[in-house]
Amino acid sequence: MEENDSEKSQDFIRTHISEDVANQKNDGRVHTRFPPEPNGYLHLGHAKSICLNFGIAKEFNGLCNLRLDDTNPSAEKVEYAEAIQKDVKWLGFDWDERLFHASDYFDQLYQWAIQLIKEGKAFVCDLNFEEMRAHRGTLTEAGKNSPFRDRSVEENLDLFAKMKSGEFDEGTKTLRAKIDMSSPNLNLRDPVIYRILHQEHPETGDQWKIYPSYDFAHGQSDSLEGITHSLCTLEFEHHRPLYDWFCENLKIHHPQQIEFARLNLNYTVMSKRKMLRLVEEDHVDGWDDPRMPTLSGMRRRGFAPASIRSFCERVGLAKRENIIEMELLEFCLREDLNKCAQRRLGVLDPLKVTIANYPDGQVEELDAVNNPEDQKAGTRKISFSKTVFIDRNDFMEDPPKKYFRMAIGKEVRLKYAYYVTCREVIKNEQGEITELICEYDPESRGGGTPDERKVKGTIQWVDSTTAINPEIRLYDRLFKVPNPEEAEEGKDYISNINPDSLTSLSNALVEASIENLEAGEPFQLERIGYFTIDSKARESCKLVLNRSVAMRDSWAKKQGK
Ligand code: ATP
Ligand code: MG
Repeated sequence: MEENDSEKSQDFIRTHISEDVANQKNDGRVHTRFPPEPNGYLHLGHAKSICLNFGIAKEFNGLCNLRLDDTNPSAEKVEYAEAIQKDVKWLGFDWDERLFHASDYFDQLYQWAIQLIKEGKAFVCDLNFEEMRAHRGTLTEAGKNSPFRDRSVEENLDLFAKMKSGEFDEGTKTLRAKIDMSSPNLNLRDPVIYRILHQEHPETGDQWKIYPSYDFAHGQSDSLEGITHSLCTLEFEHHRPLYDWFCENLKIHHPQQIEFARLNLNYTVMSKRKMLRLVEEDHVDGWDDPRMPTLSGMRRRGFAPASIRSFCERVGLAKRENIIEMELLEFCLREDLNKCAQRRLGVLDPLKVTIANYPDGQVEELDAVNNPEDQKAGTRKISFSKTVFIDRNDFMEDPPKKYFRMAIGKEVRLKYAYYVTCREVIKNEQGEITELICEYDPESRGGGTPDERKVKGTIQWVDSTTAINPEIRLYDRLFKVPNPEEAEEGKDYISNINPDSLTSLSNALVEASIENLEAGEPFQLERIGYFTIDSKARESCKLVLNRSVAMRDSWAKKQGK
């Protein structure tokens, strides 16, 4: 991966870490981790966290672990755990042999729970969920102690052992840390650290009937792995005192937690829970639907990992919530694709063009440049014959003055081919144009003439003898408003789904060589946009082209670039 580390600006996290290294904190070691919960597919927000954690480890000659935070078997699946690993690798990062699971530490966490009980710092509570909430108090009002708070150590040990062996029903008991029910920080009001869950776990099977809470597992997992800097999003700021409390009371290595603002993007939702609903209610074609902001969706849509990394870098780090514009993501995508995508010709709405003075039955091969941005990409052959197709958009019967595309009597360049002039328009009984009769200049082969006369317009075309007819899918934003959460009263983000986010075209024609590209490999249909072959459809031997992004670049325009 190409990155110029020295140019990376010193954001507040890097500054903090630089100081720690300079002060020989943790012997100058830097060790980070990316800790997703395997309860869904990774999204662009996760990409930001991945780039940050793995990026920092690399810049500071440190290490970054991948840890699956699998403390809640009711929401987690092996499918998700596998997809997470695939996506992190695809994005360009490697955890070497350091793949861990919070469940690797269940035994240790259980021992720590016992330690807290023995020290009078944890108790078994019989309050159910509602009762506990009622006792909890509010931001302005202290909570009330649980009536079970003063159980003896022996009773707590006995009950906790019975919880573990499955003697109690789910929801009937919890183990809680004994901290302070009047703390202004609600997380310190005797938080639940173990709950009963008679559920099989993908890693530990039916070994456990109790599972640690996220808060009891997360910080200690960091500690066990010797993490030096736990980078996490702002919503965990108020959990930090609790993680500190656990580390101090258990007397274990204390990682430094540093919070940063989540990545939010307009016109989409960035939460696994919300995306799961889109999938389950069939609003999209799975987690990897090309409209989803998941890494698998973006991969299927034709994003290269480099564009996502560059987006994350451009977005930078903030201490406050903000919303990034979708146009910036599209800009990064175009910038990357412009460099690496091969060019191909295609027309979305074909209009037949007959070249009257071209020899009947002749087919010739012309050279087309694969990528003007990359000489090494070379050229390819494209066929030309008496009948070609142009895009209906590129012809006007009554054109305005400055119209440089095809019109009666006007000469245009068919890219890589010839100069042609339209002489006649043929219409059907409904008055719709069905065919154009043109004349070509045999001297202009390849796009120039001996007299060097200027032709302003250049349009793309495909040859009738070789063109193929794939399905084309054009994507628009998944939501019709910038902030999908702002829904009408009584409705939610689902009501803001854009009903026109997918347009499927069945008439398009493209040059045959496209069939030889790999699914996921980007290419540009000249003047139309960037595309890739849909991987899912290819598995069932169907050729479907996903448009990754259109050519227009509104973001760059807005920034005055
Ligand atoms: P979601 O709300 O989508 O479920 P999460 O935060 O619960 O996200 P985790 O699997 O717990 O998802 O996240 C793994 C890591 O990715 C965490 O460190 C989390 O802070 C980070 N992360 C998640 N979403 C974002 C985001 N939008 N921007 C930056 N980092 C994120
Ligand atoms: Mg979550």
